[in-house]
Amino acid sequence: MKLAILGSTGSIGRQTLSIIDENTEITGLSCMSNSALLYEQYCRYKPRWLHVGDSTKYSELKTMVNDSAVTITAGEAALVDFAANCDYDVLLTSIVGSIGLLPTIEAVKRGKRIALANKETLVVYGEKIMQLAAQYGAEIIPVDSEHSAIFQSLQGNDYKSIEKIILTASGGPFFKRSKSQLLNVNAAAALKHPKWQMGKKITIDSATLMNKGLEVIEARWLFDVPGQAIEVVVHPECIIHSLVQYCDGSVMAQLGLPDMQLPIHYALHYPKRKPTKLKRLSLSEIGALNFYKPDMATFPCLAHAFQALQLGGTAPCILNAANEVLVQLFLDQKISFYDIPNGIEKALNKFDIVQNYTLDDVVATDVAVRRFVAKSL
Ligand code: NAD
Ligand code: MG
Repeated sequence: MKLAILGSTGSIGRQTLSIIDENTEITGLSCMSNSALLYEQYCRYKPRWLHVGDSTKYSELKTMVNDSAVTITAGEAALVDFAANCDYDVLLTSIVGSIGLLPTIEAVKRGKRIALANKETLVVYGEKIMQLAAQYGAEIIPVDSEHSAIFQSLQGNDYKSIEKIILTASGGPFFKRSKSQLLNVNAAAALKHPKWQMGKKITIDSATLMNKGLEVIEARWLFDVPGQAIEVVVHPECIIHSLVQYCDGSVMAQLGLPDMQLPIHYALHYPKRKPTKLKRLSLSEIGALNFYKPDMATFPCLAHAFQALQLGGTAPCILNAANEVLVQLFLDQKISFYDIPNGIEKALNKFDIVQNYTLDDVVATDVAVRRFVAKSL
């Protein structure tokens, strides 16, 4: 299998490189700015294409590689070129943010398999991505652990027989905290996730529960179920990765230790199951599994995501763009924890929602919302 990775230096990208075997040929690697790690990965896997988002890192990378047979590109537009022209069977999209949208579309148009970790792409354009995938014969295989669990629980069953999807959530670092306890929390506290080691953006999203909100929208399009048929349940042990309830009342789930290597491995090899040496689950060691209703009053981002899904059209794109900017501002210690949901609400109220949207509408909305949110603070 020829594999190319968007975001190979990040949390998912690195875990992907750690789980592949000798039958996987790495043909392309890309990152935003960590050219030293990208070069290290190049030395080990010898891909024919390297891409770096930050153009100032281009010459340094070119000098280090020093091989004219390797294509080296830089900048945002070239990422689309990478997806459109690099030689691969599977594109793993482990880039963060809606910047993953345009390259993903290129992979879809080539009828490739997309191992999709980049949930923001499905949030902003999921309905159309799934239509394009059907049109071009591309496969969108989820990497997100919950969606992989749902996908695995759906094997051998007709999607039309789904009654409900039950998405599990860890609850994040602030589970069971009250609003007053969260007013002054900072990024350092929000970055301490109890179960998962992930990139900064998704870790903050987990603390606000926006991650679950984005996942509700992701599930809506991946599995073609309406928002009303998606329920979120907090399950702090993170052992049941999600469940599908069928029309006969039967519920199927996928379980495992919280380790992203497993869903990554499944997405690469589906429909086959290949052996791994990953640590096995022992239910008797874990003892008890607990479940709670999410607290949407304390964590309004989840409610905003459900609302955006119901509003439809470009509303999820508005939600996502506002969230991306606000999370960065929170990480930079420029705003407080509740400025994130408040800023999202403001953006949802400010912008007209385009119902029959095109790709241009989504791209223009993304730019306009980012500008508005950055200015209004
Ligand atoms: P991360 O921040 O650790 O890594 C992001 C990667 O994307 C890095 O390699 C970075 O260099 C690259 N990147 C960012 N902007 C870029 C640009 N403009 N051009 C080229 N490369 C760019 O993030 P992550 O935690 O690995 O998450 C990646 C995606 O996977 C996100 O959409 C996230 O929601 C999703 N996801 C992550 C996890 C997890 O456990 N980390 C689980 C489920 C889903
Ligand atoms: Mg997830």
